[in-house]
Amino acid sequence: MPGTTFRTFTAIAITAFGLAACAPEEAPVPPDYDAFAEQYVKLVLAVGAHDANFVDAYYGPEAWRTEATANKTGIAELKAEAAALMEQITALPAAGDGMTAARRNYQIKQLRAVHTRLRMLDGETLAFDEETALLYDATAPDRDLTYYDAILDEISALIPGDAPLSDRVNAFRSQFVIPEDRLDAVMTAALDGCRARTMEHITLPDGERFTLEYVKDKPWSGYNWYQGNAYSLIQINTDFPIYLDRAVDLGCHEGYPGHHTYNALLETSLVNERGWVEFSVYPLFSPQSLIAEGTANLGIEMAFPGTARMEFERDVLFPAAGLDPTLTDAYFEFRELSGDLAFSRNEIARDYLNGDISREEAIALSQKYGMTSFERAEQSVSFIETYRGYVINYNLGAEMARDYVTRHGGDSQDGRWKAYADLLASPRLPSDLLE
Ligand SMILES: [Zn+2]
Repeated sequence: MPGTTFRTFTAIAITAFGLAACAPEEAPVPPDYDAFAEQYVKLVLAVGAHDANFVDAYYGPEAWRTEATANKTGIAELKAEAAALMEQITALPAAGDGMTAARRNYQIKQLRAVHTRLRMLDGETLAFDEETALLYDATAPDRDLTYYDAILDEISALIPGDAPLSDRVNAFRSQFVIPEDRLDAVMTAALDGCRARTMEHITLPDGERFTLEYVKDKPWSGYNWYQGNAYSLIQINTDFPIYLDRAVDLGCHEGYPGHHTYNALLETSLVNERGWVEFSVYPLFSPQSLIAEGTANLGIEMAFPGTARMEFERDVLFPAAGLDPTLTDAYFEFRELSGDLAFSRNEIARDYLNGDISREEAIALSQKYGMTSFERAEQSVSFIETYRGYVINYNLGAEMARDYVTRHGGDSQDGRWKAYADLLASPRLPSDLLE
């Protein structure tokens, strides 16, 4: 990795432009994207000193982290640094091979997100759609919440009764809670199944591995803390009882072919093979998260297409959890219908964060459209308060990744996996998914 500092780099850039202007017969010095990358990594680490949620993963030189934490540079200075770096890269011609062009574009949009997060840390409040466009390179469709009422009506018919729908659904779902003493066995079986299906299509580095931990008192339900060297720490939050369908969700999303696979492929293809150090840091509030969450959620249907998930759950996970297998049909029907409600969370987050509804209203709406208990709805709103516009990355991200995989991979499983693996191992941005 290059050890160029920001100042030295500025001098190189000026020389490059100078040569191009005064002596066009001499070949200009090519842009030093490695130097930009180092500046970007150090900047992200420096923002992490102000915002504990910002650096999701980092496995580059340890000295850079120590340096960033020791010299806690002020937010105004970091903001100016991000803007200057972004301007410098933007001013360069977009020429180069496909991968270099993608790298340049990636650096610009990631820096735009870093700059935006710094504006927010500095006290600026952005409207929901503006925030997601700048941080995640995407905006979610804006629908009236009543759009989802027809789905609630269908679920209401499936689980009839006089009590409010959220109470009925809660009672229905309580039949599918994984008993605490079986949780680890079920999660391990799910992760094994997700991994085996992924390995049929994707080659992961030798020695790749993960550790599974159970934690409490978090605003999220699961988290992958990627550590580098193809190793992930996966944590599952046990604040609330875990429903059976979360096992495959979490196994695919956090593990295979989701976050663990994505990070391991980026590390192998971009950091190790190409020396692109910017991929050794993962700023959470950035376009990379839409790709990460979108591919992780799409990963569930990649690993278990069509009826494969239902069969796996019925044959492997229901018995592992000691649950009644005769209940599976209604359960699968419920899940299919409730999946269509995912985008409703964006509407609640948008209205709440834009100040159009109160916290109490946001909880009540989360309870209604999430068909869940007050406590779980409160956790969902606390997630929105912590991560804000990040919520679009799950549902919109999955839809964008799915469209991309279908457009590039077609209907065959081989074609889809090829497009999916290619997406995981490349510096693509959300707006590139539209191509
Ligand atoms: Zn995730």
